[in-house]
Amino acid sequence: MPTSYQAPMRKDTQQSRHVSQTQQSNLSQENASVSELLKAKGDALFSISPEDTLHTAVQSLSEKKIGALVVTDSAGKLCGILSERDIVRKLAEKPGETLPLKVADVMTKDVVTCAPDDALVTVLQRMTNGRFRHMPVLADGALAGIVTIGDVVNLRLTQLEHEALQLKQLIVG
Ligand code: AMP
Repeated sequence: MPTSYQAPMRKDTQQSRHVSQTQQSNLSQENASVSELLKAKGDALFSISPEDTLHTAVQSLSEKKIGALVVTDSAGKLCGILSERDIVRKLAEKPGETLPLKVADVMTKDVVTCAPDDALVTVLQRMTNGRFRHMPVLADGALAGIVTIGDVVNLRLTQLEHEALQLKQLIVG
């Protein structure tokens, strides 16, 4: 046996098995982009007018089982986002007076958007830093879908299942 040979020790195996489970490493493995997510999810987008009331908004959120609506003007241009959080905040401030209020008075006007070519990992970082869970997608200035934190997590879970299946096939042959 060559003198340089060192039998593997338990700590060596532990070191080589160590995999960082950060958001960055999990998502960047596949370098998934917003457009790949939209291909899987579809580009359905539910919008509301700034002139509508919060009563209409809560009906829409409840019917569609979603957490936010994009607010568009009469030309279909993005002018805000209204999430269930905005409505809950208003309800706490003005109980009994909230539902007749206009969407325009409660929505967030400075909307952070992403583009189809953006990497999902950067979108996730921006959502985490900004503390919001929804990000509308703009392609050449036009609305092209919406990405939510739930969508990103779902996509990653599907990728992990796929990777596990590939590993099983490798082992079984
Ligand atoms: P969310 O976590 O998405 O329900 O939203 C939390 C807060 O962030 C609410 O006040 C929303 O109006 C706001 N918000 C949601 N999405 C965005 C976005 N993409 N850009 C800016 N603000 C947002």
